[in-house]
Amino acid sequence: MKILFIGDGQLGQMLGGSAISHGHECLLYSTRSEKVKPLSAQIELSRTLAEAIDWADVVSWEHEDIPADVIAAANDKFLMDPARIKALTDRRTEKKLFDDCRVATSPWRSFNTADELEKYLADADQPQVIKAARGGYDGKGQWRFKLTDNPASVAQEAGQQPGIVEAMIPFSKEVSLVGARAKDGSLCCFPLITNVHDRGILSYSLGAIDVVPASWQSRAEEAFRSITNALNYVGVLAIEFFVVGEGDEAELLVNEIAPRVHNSGHWTMTGANCSQFDLHIRALTGMPLPQLRVEPTLMINVIGAERIPAGLWHHADTQCHWYNKDPRPGRKVGHVNIRTANRDTALHWVGLWAEKLQVLS
Ligand code: ADP
Ligand code: MG
Repeated sequence: MKILFIGDGQLGQMLGGSAISHGHECLLYSTRSEKVKPLSAQIELSRTLAEAIDWADVVSWEHEDIPADVIAAANDKFLMDPARIKALTDRRTEKKLFDDCRVATSPWRSFNTADELEKYLADADQPQVIKAARGGYDGKGQWRFKLTDNPASVAQEAGQQPGIVEAMIPFSKEVSLVGARAKDGSLCCFPLITNVHDRGILSYSLGAIDVVPASWQSRAEEAFRSITNALNYVGVLAIEFFVVGEGDEAELLVNEIAPRVHNSGHWTMTGANCSQFDLHIRALTGMPLPQLRVEPTLMINVIGAERIPAGLWHHADTQCHWYNKDPRPGRKVGHVNIRTANRDTALHWVGLWAEKLQVLS
């Protein structure tokens, strides 16, 4: 099949690589330069967007901010309504989807003005997180409010654009569920992934390492089913959860979703018989979803570092991925997957390497 991906960043590149290994052809559309590109982004291609859409059997995306002209021109080449996906770039629409699907999420309200936000903060009886409705990622576009803070001054800063204000959740850990829904509605999910963030950016993920209660997995998959059914979704989607409490009694609250492949699923490139990218291609092209087999794998993000040290490139248990982007503090420029036995050995690797691989500010 011929697949056109919207977006030409690292996720688009990894999706494209997987598409080709499955015998498909692919093109990427850069929404920044508004150019159609082959997989090797250095090579110019003189094909217009309209020609690429015409060429494609199916259009998919690496990021959900699908331009309006693409939605209009390619509407019948998407496997689902692209306008609903684009609408999820607004946190208010996203939170409303959780409420509509009756999946538990942190209590929230939306605001349009700094005055409205100030009122909510003044009434708050627990710490709050304020998030801009649009444009936030990797912890950007967020503010914290403690009960000792002045509501007016926080609202002045955080209320310059519409957003949501939600309760600060005292989570015991953060996990994500990465899975796929096929056209026939069948699902296929990886085991819950433990994620550790530093200053709002994903620092590392433990794939198939933490053994969590079976009830967490089934509740997470239930939320996955509700959300993907509501969207009539086809392909890979990730859900981030806050876990509140411990053991079987713990509560899973949906934090946010990514209607696409996700950074916390990168360990599957090393630790699974079918990576999240392969899974997306299978779902898009109507192949059966596989029986997943997984092995304990740590993923450490490379953030703002100039390079991945040679010791990691040379190690037999590692797989290094460099995105060919200019390093800047806080910018994800690669990741390293490490086959490792258990949580202790994984955290040993983190202790050895995370600081060398991550320049956050
Ligand atoms: P994004 O990943 O798009 O930047 P998130 O909403 O996932 O935005 O926030 C990034 C991180 O900030 C979360 O993974 C979590 O560690 C922290 N965070 C966000 N919202 C809350 C909240 N309501 N309570 C506690 N921590 C939060
Ligand atoms: Mg997040």
